[in-house]
Amino acid sequence: MPSATVVDAGRPLPQERHWKDRLSEFLDAHAGKPPRDKAERLAWARAFHADLEEAGLAAPGWPAEAGGMELELADQVAYHQQMTRARAPKHPCGLSFIVAPTLITHGTPEQKERFLRPLLRADELWCQGFSEPGAGSDLTSLTTRAERDGDHYVVNGQKLWTSMAHLADWMFALVRTAPAGPGGAGISYLLIPMNAEGITVRPLRDIAGGTHFAEVYFDDVRVPAENLVGEENDGWSIARTSLGHERATAFLSDEFRYRRVVDELFSLAVRTGAGTDPLVRQRLARIEASVRVLASNSRRALDAVLGGRDPGPAASVNRLVKSEFDQYLHEVALRVLGPDAVLGNREPTAPEHGRWMYGYLMSRASTIGAGTAEIQRNTIAEKVLGLSSHRGESTGKEAG
Ligand SMILES: Cc1cc2nc3c(=O)[nH]c(=O)nc-3n(C[C@H](O)[C@H](O)[C@H](O)COP(=O)(O)OP(=O)(O)OC[C@H]3O[C@@H](n4cnc5c(N)ncnc54)[C@H](O)[C@@H]3O)c2cc1C
Repeated sequence: MPSATVVDAGRPLPQERHWKDRLSEFLDAHAGKPPRDKAERLAWARAFHADLEEAGLAAPGWPAEAGGMELELADQVAYHQQMTRARAPKHPCGLSFIVAPTLITHGTPEQKERFLRPLLRADELWCQGFSEPGAGSDLTSLTTRAERDGDHYVVNGQKLWTSMAHLADWMFALVRTAPAGPGGAGISYLLIPMNAEGITVRPLRDIAGGTHFAEVYFDDVRVPAENLVGEENDGWSIARTSLGHERATAFLSDEFRYRRVVDELFSLAVRTGAGTDPLVRQRLARIEASVRVLASNSRRALDAVLGGRDPGPAASVNRLVKSEFDQYLHEVALRVLGPDAVLGNREPTAPEHGRWMYGYLMSRASTIGAGTAEIQRNTIAEKVLGLSSHRGESTGKEAG
């Protein structure tokens, strides 16, 4: 029998308590409905994530030295599940989690120290400056230039479709530092402060009437050379790597979120009576099948990661299925709502604050942003099926 002293000594100190208990407590203490007003909702989500970081409960998959929890993958799954169930606000800047793994893998110690914590706390928001008027799917043809001038780069050019540019403090950008060469040669990865002189942000009206994205112009913008990530001219390979585990676990949080949204749609169908319409029932059943396919694809990506393989091909399949599912889900939701669906999110009397119409409109972008559906199909054809490249090159079929 252990003595009382041993039992006491073995009792975890408060900071050693299991992360699941601490997260539960945190989520209970922060429970509440998101404010309706957009600016207040953003402030609310920022405050939540600052507190989460403060409590040591942010970034489940990041290494401890980067401020993360360094959880095993199975625990990361449980973490995302717990957060989704509690309807915890999403981090207000999803793009932060594209630049963060890049900094963790390729950043200098100073860059990690300077950027990771404010990013995690949502004290600083990021935007992604990749696409340009002449460079979207074929990003390697980008022309925004960064010329070295002493200890600075001088940036000139234009980015397009830059989400959150009007709110962002920083942009992670791909810029041309040398003439275009094969395989994305001559491109560098640069961190640009959005308050630098010479930057003009012109918000663009999106389909839902908001200003989700913008054009960004650079006119002799001076950026300290220490903001270069990795080697000069090596930006293309840096941008393409370093997703790894983050990518797989992001699928998992999507999986849990979609499960919840689909259940909410079923409840809506019951409430409106639309669930008795045979056509709607067929569609709802198809949605149920699709959400399960999504879940199984996520597990496949996770399996690849657990087996030490790149989830690349599974990721392309998943992205394609997810983007088309997102559109179908919202199309069916509008049918479930009937004529009320036309009341958008700006109408005070819209059912459920117009969330389904808003989702329907914004889901048009899901087969375009972050690689179009056609590009995903090209990747699947080449990397999964091993068909020859549409550019006439032979391709290596990847496992998965
Ligand atoms: C809501 C939203 C947010 C976005 N946010 C950002 C952001 O924050 N930062 C950023 O950098 N970019 C952002 N983008 C831009 C996005 O990455 C590009 O729109 C996308 O890469 C496609 O590029 P493009 O619009 O220039 O179309 P294009 O590349 O010109 O393509 C036009 C059409 O041709 C097809 N096509 C092109 N090449 C091929 C091919 N080889 N084979 C078959 N079909 C092909 C495409 O599928 C598409 O249908 C955003 C886009 C949207 C919709």
